[in-house]
Amino acid sequence: FDRRVFNFAPGPATLPEEVLKQAAAEMLNWNGLGMGVMEVSHRGKPFMACYEEAIADLRELMNIPDSYAVLFLQGGAIGENAAIPMNLMPLAKNGPKADFIVTGIWTEKSAKEAAKYGQAHIAATSAATGFNSIPDQKDWQLSDDAAYVHICSNETVGGVEFQNVPKVAKPLVADVSSNILSRVWDINDFGVLFGGAQKNIGPAGLSIVVVRKDLLGHAMPITPMVWDWAKQAENDSMLNTPPTYGIYLAGLVFKWLKRQGGVAAMEQQNIAKSNLLYDCIDSSSLFTSKVDKNCRSRMNVTFYLNDESLNDAFVEGAAKLGLMNIKGHKSVGGMRASIYNAMPIAGVKALVEYMKEFERGC
Ligand code: PMP
Repeated sequence: FDRRVFNFAPGPATLPEEVLKQAAAEMLNWNGLGMGVMEVSHRGKPFMACYEEAIADLRELMNIPDSYAVLFLQGGAIGENAAIPMNLMPLAKNGPKADFIVTGIWTEKSAKEAAKYGQAHIAATSAATGFNSIPDQKDWQLSDDAAYVHICSNETVGGVEFQNVPKVAKPLVADVSSNILSRVWDINDFGVLFGGAQKNIGPAGLSIVVVRKDLLGHAMPITPMVWDWAKQAENDSMLNTPPTYGIYLAGLVFKWLKRQGGVAAMEQQNIAKSNLLYDCIDSSSLFTSKVDKNCRSRMNVTFYLNDESLNDAFVEGAAKLGLMNIKGHKSVGGMRASIYNAMPIAGVKALVEYMKEFERGC
């Protein structure tokens, strides 16, 4: 291609063009230092200012109160799947334990990892329906003695998203990797939010943890120092070298989000974009969504062709038009269009046009 395409990849994913242009322009000489941001000390004044501004902008965008710490770490969401039980399970009153609401492969993985550190109690699961729904909260078998309740706010593979943050008595721990900053949340509803940056924020290698401060300082003695949130909070996430380039780029994305009108404005865009696609799917006799209407993801729109033998032709035809990476995850098949904040509505319109055209040709 001699132009940018519309990249529907689930993550690493498309980034705002403006941000990439700025990063390119500053690559060799950042802030007049005569060197790039990747080349400067993480503890020096210029980088510390960049780090602090990124944290402040994220706090502003998500309305994060002072009673929460914001950490910029490494290890991805998968790393946090181990860090979470190590940091929080000691809060359980009868030995290490947590409750899991399993709505897809990501929460399945979280529970499996947590089981290495304590009891990972499956309080509810939608496995029986092929992870196309979210179990009704009144049916959750929450335990009295769990330290926390773990959910995934948006299951990236299945395309299943909580439309409201559930209210639970215990601290709610949410994997927000694939829908952070895409909708307005009340942070007070969470104990911990965590996720990798490579979908809605920036490059892979940066993970973000937002944790209520009273949950800090209870980590198991075996917790590796870099994943002890209290220690990281005391050290401005700099117990070791943080992912500096990822933090810088995330900072540029936060500024971009502020210019777009913040999270509320993004949410309106995301509603509009996802409605375009779901309306197309629902009015078609070729495409189907398997996900319950009340939990369809605005970020990862999964759908199937009724005639699966057309899958390859559909994907190839899309790629010819520069509509890339719409093939579904291998574990579920079908198609998936990931339409994070940085996907312009023009990309979704182009995909919808193509879907209609393809169906007409069948
Ligand atoms: N949780 C969710 C919801 C994800 O989508 C992903 C990545 N696709 C992960 C966890 C794993 O994240 P990472 O690769 O950053 O460890």
